[in-house]
Amino acid sequence: MEHNRGNDHNKNKKPEGERPKGGYFTPLMIALVLVLVFSWVMNAVEKSQYTETSISDFWEAMEANQLSEVEIQGDRILYMTKEEAVKDPSQQKACFTGLPHGGDTLELSRELKAMGVDVVYPIVEDNSVIMMILSYAIMIGGMFLLMNMVTRRMGGDGMMGGFGKSKAKVYMEKQTGVTFKDVAGQDEAKESLQEIIDFLHNPQKYTAIGAKLPKGALLVGSPGTGKTLLAKAVAGEADVPFFSISGSDFVEMFVGMGASRVRDLFQQAAKVAPCIIFIDEIDAVGRSRDNRFGNNSEQEQTLNQLLNEIDGFEPSKGIVCLAATNRPEILDKALLRPGRFDRRIIVDRPNLQGRLDTLKVHTRKIKLSEDVDLRKIAQATAGAVGADLANLVNEAALRAVRKGRQAVNQEDLLVSFETVIAGTEKKNTVLTDMEKRLVAYHEVGHALVAALEKHSQPVSKITIVPHTSGALGYTMQMPEEEKFLSTADELRTELKTLVGGRAAEQVVFGVQTTGASNDIQRATSLARAMVTQYGMSEKFGLMSTASVQHQYLDGQAYMDCSQEMAAEVDKEVMRILEAAYADARKILTDNRALLDEISEFLLVKETITGDELMAYVNADKKELPPAEEAAEETEA
Ligand code: ADP
Ligand code: ZN
Repeated sequence: MEHNRGNDHNKNKKPEGERPKGGYFTPLMIALVLVLVFSWVMNAVEKSQYTETSISDFWEAMEANQLSEVEIQGDRILYMTKEEAVKDPSQQKACFTGLPHGGDTLELSRELKAMGVDVVYPIVEDNSVIMMILSYAIMIGGMFLLMNMVTRRMGGDGMMGGFGKSKAKVYMEKQTGVTFKDVAGQDEAKESLQEIIDFLHNPQKYTAIGAKLPKGALLVGSPGTGKTLLAKAVAGEADVPFFSISGSDFVEMFVGMGASRVRDLFQQAAKVAPCIIFIDEIDAVGRSRDNRFGNNSEQEQTLNQLLNEIDGFEPSKGIVCLAATNRPEILDKALLRPGRFDRRIIVDRPNLQGRLDTLKVHTRKIKLSEDVDLRKIAQATAGAVGADLANLVNEAALRAVRKGRQAVNQEDLLVSFETVIAGTEKKNTVLTDMEKRLVAYHEVGHALVAALEKHSQPVSKITIVPHTSGALGYTMQMPEEEKFLSTADELRTELKTLVGGRAAEQVVFGVQTTGASNDIQRATSLARAMVTQYGMSEKFGLMSTASVQHQYLDGQAYMDCSQEMAAEVDKEVMRILEAAYADARKILTDNRALLDEISEFLLVKETITGDELMAYVNADKKELPPAEEAAEETEA
């Protein structure tokens, strides 16, 4: 029972730019372990067939003429005493002992023969030989695997001597084929980068005046906002080669490799300058060198080398270093000093126009049918980043193919949008009738509170068709226009809407279900943010008691106050939630007839639109005394 505002989106990152991870050690280790396990098992199997005895036991048995059968096998003697042979001759249960050093087996066998004991020298039914062959085979296999991996990493030059060289990891594109036209929105970022392009085209213009251009710029923004794309576009616009490497590639292998990789990278770049060097995830190497995150000498060496190289190259050569990160706050200050990555270019989540443009860019090569309204989709996807939108468009195209159509229509886009936020519909989840009723009332509870309250976003869809994400139903609200600010009233309404589902369960059935857990989580974190960050509680007023970290990632806030204060915050959050819940219950109790009516309708239709909902609500509203309505209007 999800309650979605329609701005959730999956954070799947592009598959492109993914590079194989893991060291060279893995195959070797696997081979070794295999050999060990194998030989251990063989040994155990072999031993279990015999009882181990000592040489003196053997002599004793021999002197007492107790031997019935002797088998001489390489370094061991297998023998069976008469006693055992009588007990169970079929089982061949023999005992063995190490062969006496320098023991002359011929002499021994002659002696035994004289005593009337059968002596056998088996030809080769020798497990140890098989085992040896097998373990060599495994080892050689492992080595092959290892060589294969190494050579692939070395760019296929097939030389083991390539250890310590970094060529494999650097991706060089002579022409990226990407221009600013392929990057939608991001106008501020493009403007800042325009100068770099101009510089790459025409360095003399800048050096003639004596101007120094920044050697590097830092692209900062959430994952999937198009940082890599922008960097490629800069290379494309300037028509220069594009070197890319990910920060995490520097630090993974042997100590000392990172630094030599950096050196190599800049050497290679210098050969083809002017060019762009792009370092993705620079936070992996550029993490602050203070010891808060533990000492990592490899990372430090790499970072020092990087700083060194950046300081070292002459800007007039035309190398520009771009780096991307979504955690700028953890970068080492030295990286951000003037003359290094001193420019910070923010690559924001796109606004309405940006999303519309992104959709246009990605639908350029896709056949669209007449009814497609990209603006509607852009409106629905507040908060989505470029990568999400690219994904959405592709999903829609795939759906059109599945349905055997020639072009993508609006429904494809809408459905794939829902797939992105809620997973696909899962029609075969069987709910009991009672569960279905609960879900329906729960969802209508959300929707009705939203519809009856002022300051709420209009409901666009209510459904009780289960989705693969696990949601048994959801209510989708869609903002009419892009909003950047929320007022306290709007947030309070949102709280009421969020707890409206549980309120409906309680009011109608007097039960509480697990379906409300997501709502409760979201309501709680919203209420907490109101208290700790937005200054919207009576008790704490303007005092901030939490601070946000990783604003380009999850944007989570961490409590930043005394323990007593934190306990007080909890109480205040609880009070706010209780108030919202009481309000929601009152709204639903007061409009019980409407709640029943819409829920029954939803049970029959399974999915209803916002307009259908409002038709019910407005019919009811007309019966309200006009005076009251007017009073409400003026209040607003
Ligand atoms: P980042 O490096 O910021 O994580 P990417 O540049 O790798 O993100 O973006 C991933 C994909 O998302 C791109 O290949 C592109 O298809 C799409 N994309 C992201 N931002 C935009 C944009 N502004 N315009 C067009 N496509 C975009
Ligand atoms: Zn809910």
